[in-house]
Amino acid sequence: MASSIALNNGAKIPMLGIGTWRADQGKATEVIKLAIRAGYRHIDGAHVYQNEEDVAVGIRAAIDEGAVKREDLFIVSKLWCTFHIPSLVRGACERTLKDLKLDFLDLYLMHFPYGAKPGDELFPLDENQQLISDGSNFLDTWEAMEELVDAGLVKAIGISNFNKNQIDAILNKPGLKYKPANNQIECHPYLTQEKLINYCHSKGISVTAYSPLGSPDRPWVSSDDPSLLEEPKIKAIADKHNKTPAQVLLRFHIQRNVIVIAKSATPHRIKENLQLFDFELSENDMKTMMSFPEKRAFAMKWATTHKDFPLNAEY
Ligand code: NDP
Repeated sequence: MASSIALNNGAKIPMLGIGTWRADQGKATEVIKLAIRAGYRHIDGAHVYQNEEDVAVGIRAAIDEGAVKREDLFIVSKLWCTFHIPSLVRGACERTLKDLKLDFLDLYLMHFPYGAKPGDELFPLDENQQLISDGSNFLDTWEAMEELVDAGLVKAIGISNFNKNQIDAILNKPGLKYKPANNQIECHPYLTQEKLINYCHSKGISVTAYSPLGSPDRPWVSSDDPSLLEEPKIKAIADKHNKTPAQVLLRFHIQRNVIVIAKSATPHRIKENLQLFDFELSENDMKTMMSFPEKRAFAMKWATTHKDFPLNAEY
């Protein structure tokens, strides 16, 4: 099985990337250094993770010690919601490039379809704890992102957390210059996203699975939420292949032609999560992994009243 796939701009994206959300300030540098040394070539970040400067130090150290060249890396970042007004998009991208100390990004994603009030606050909320809209239209934001490609700041642009109707709106936009190269969505055995993945693939849009281990350290996790890493059926599949539950959960996506980003700040797990290309899940294993009841980790409760909230659609 190939360890990278081609995007619709012709560039290759490694099937496995390291996630950086909650790789807390200071730690992100070590995580990135270690990850690149171990063999990761795809790094998933975002302005809102507030650690892009630390990620930059890790990337620079790995390049300086000769572990890798810039062109060997595939670096992803995301436009935050408070920069959806078209006149703010370029500045937001330039800020990320400055923080990451890079000349270009390989892929820049619109983090969410909904725009939020510009300003210093990353999560401007009203009295009902709902994100305050900026009134923007994500189609206009998309046009401003297309200009980033033409300006050479990013090689490809994509979306994240978009539903089918929202994807259609972009694909059918009059004057569309670039189709999204990627949709990054929550995906794991509790949220298999079969319809959305098939739809994206049918349109030439690659899919990246975020929170593939179920995001067990998400801040709002509750003690009675089920845990994928503890699922007896996943453990049994892992035992059969002499692998860990995490490796099985990551391999699941590779076999669906879905790119996967896992976050770990633990050295031995960073290495463990790379060992995905020396075993294969059987058809029955895959069926079992597709058969759990649905449970979303990211309900986005802060945006349920926003006009562009993506989770009311069937998929
Ligand atoms: P994951 O599903 O990747 O889970 C991360 C958690 O799993 C951490 O607590 C980590 O612990 C633990 N873990 C990692 N490897 C192992 C292992 N081998 N065995 C046991 N536990 C393990 O969650 P994320 O939500 O972080 O998703 C991954 C990435 O996706 C993010 O970091 C981010 O880059 C991206 N993302 C994108 C979103 C979007 O809206 N586009 C939303 C959410 C995430 P430890 O670190 O202590 O090792």
